Amino acid sequence: MKKIGFIGLGNMGFPMVKNLLADGYIVKVFDINEDVLKKCEDLNAVIIDSPEKLVDDVDVLFTSLPSEEIVQNVYFGPKGLFNEKSKSKTIMVDTSTVSPTLNDKLKKEAEASNNHFLAAPVSGGVVGAENRTLTFMVGGSEETFHQIEDVLNHLGENIFHVGEAIDSGTTVKLINNLLIGFYTAGVSEALHIANKQGIDLDVLFEMLNVSYGQSRIYDRNYNTFIREDNYEPGFSLDLLVKDLNFAVDLADELDLELPISKDLLNLYKNVSTEGYGKKDMSVLYERVRDQSNKKNK
Ligand code: NAD
Repeated sequence: MKKIGFIGLGNMGFPMVKNLLADGYIVKVFDINEDVLKKCEDLNAVIIDSPEKLVDDVDVLFTSLPSEEIVQNVYFGPKGLFNEKSKSKTIMVDTSTVSPTLNDKLKKEAEASNNHFLAAPVSGGVVGAENRTLTFMVGGSEETFHQIEDVLNHLGENIFHVGEAIDSGTTVKLINNLLIGFYTAGVSEALHIANKQGIDLDVLFEMLNVSYGQSRIYDRNYNTFIREDNYEPGFSLDLLVKDLNFAVDLADELDLELPISKDLLNLYKNVSTEGYGKKDMSVLYERVRDQSNKKNK
């Protein structure tokens, strides 16, 4: 497996491409953003001008895209990956977080067009993509998974084949992101109490980091964003809303009653409409602080 295709060169896709190129893979890329294409070209990636041209030209083809609609468009659109019946069996791997329904639709169409498909959402954030510490949660054929395992080992350090069901990795990923939503909300409100009580947030972190209040999200949100007062994503609040929506939809489909998750989704949706959506999710801390200050005026 030497030739890799990559579509979607954003916060996650670009560092993954950079690592593959550094390891000697031939990487052919497509994105709609000219700036990021230029950055890839400077690293010796081959620029391709439409998704369909990548099929048959690479051994494995990754996508890392920001919404359900865009994933649909890249696979099913006029110049999309399913536009032509593939001669060779390309292994398509979607690392975007999308709904279980879309995983299933992509798998069926990939097989109908003579390709393989794995739904492989990731966790670990931009830092994980840069440092090759990502977790991959892969759903689909185990045999196909083993064919690309070596490539995945160049991108992450925790590579899991979750199950033969195409949406099995997505289920795990949605559970993960539901927890991320909970922890982010908890950290935001907890730090606000500390602030109001005049407790130094660095000192608080030092103490909670060795207590049960510790979490990886507290570490991430506090040390990378809140402490620096910089909310450039990272993982945007809108991406979290997308994933919480999928998690709550899945619960509804399974007829599960999850009132706390539903409240959480509504909270993030409201925060997004107030203009925080493009910032890192940790910006919820600012919103909690600002709302509380307004109330106390
Ligand atoms: P991003 O918005 O930073 O990047 C998306 C890229 O897709 C951009 O470069 C954009 O130009 C490109 N794009 C948009 N429309 C396109 C089209 N029609 N054709 C080709 N390219 C197109 O998003 P991201 O943060 O890199 O996230 C990508 C996926 O990974 C999402 O599904 C997200 O949920 C998931 N994810 C993100 C993180 C994170 O920390 N950012 C962590 C885990 C999983």
